[in-house]
Amino acid sequence: MQCQPADIKQLGTILGIWAHPDDEAWAMAGLIAIARRNQQRVVLITATRGDAGKTANETRWPQTQLGEIRTKELEDCLRLLDVSEHYWLDYEDGGLAAAGSATAVKQLTDIMNDVRPDSVFTFEPNGITGHSDHKTICSWAHQAVSESNLPVTAYGAIESAENYEQACCDCQTILKDIYFNTDKPVTKPMNKMDLCIPLPTDIQDLKLRALKCQPSQTKQLFDDPEGLIFIKAHARCECFTKL
Ligand SMILES: [Zn+2]
Repeated sequence: MQCQPADIKQLGTILGIWAHPDDEAWAMAGLIAIARRNQQRVVLITATRGDAGKTANETRWPQTQLGEIRTKELEDCLRLLDVSEHYWLDYEDGGLAAAGSATAVKQLTDIMNDVRPDSVFTFEPNGITGHSDHKTICSWAHQAVSESNLPVTAYGAIESAENYEQACCDCQTILKDIYFNTDKPVTKPMNKMDLCIPLPTDIQDLKLRALKCQPSQTKQLFDDPEGLIFIKAHARCECFTKL
């Protein structure tokens, strides 16, 4: 369904469950911003500090300090998006699949029972980029939704066929850096999405700023003409499939 900003109200209290700092900005910064302007409650969970991620510049953001750097970057991003309720789960970056799912699902279920969200957002089961943490967080979130017994609708962020085709056409040289764990992401055409949110231009600008708040991950893309095309395409619309 094509969803207009006014329809976002129907999503009620929103809980985002993500693996790394910046996942939330890529997947749902626009949705978060619209929901907060509607005075909806938005709570986010981040499972790791992202310290095993690739740094955009080793001199500016040394790998050894990446966990602290990305913690601060996410705090800046959440301040920009007016989100004050956030949980770190402090799992090892890259280690979600090896961590015990029972404990993690219990942690998520406890938070869910406390927050009582109407809508939960995470990755689609293949994790867009194919990162194993993305796939695992989707599985944990899905299990937690089932075990919470709350009337929650769970959505997975998914790459649109339109954005992927554009990336294949205009962003060929950076594609392997982005979809680094998969040959091709699972995609769906925008008109087949369960939730497809075209972002108004002021919200697109805010999403770009949310991504800029995390320069250790995004500066390279912003500085690269292809990267900028890719980012701007992903700031125009946010798409989700029901889990
Ligand atoms: Zn991630």
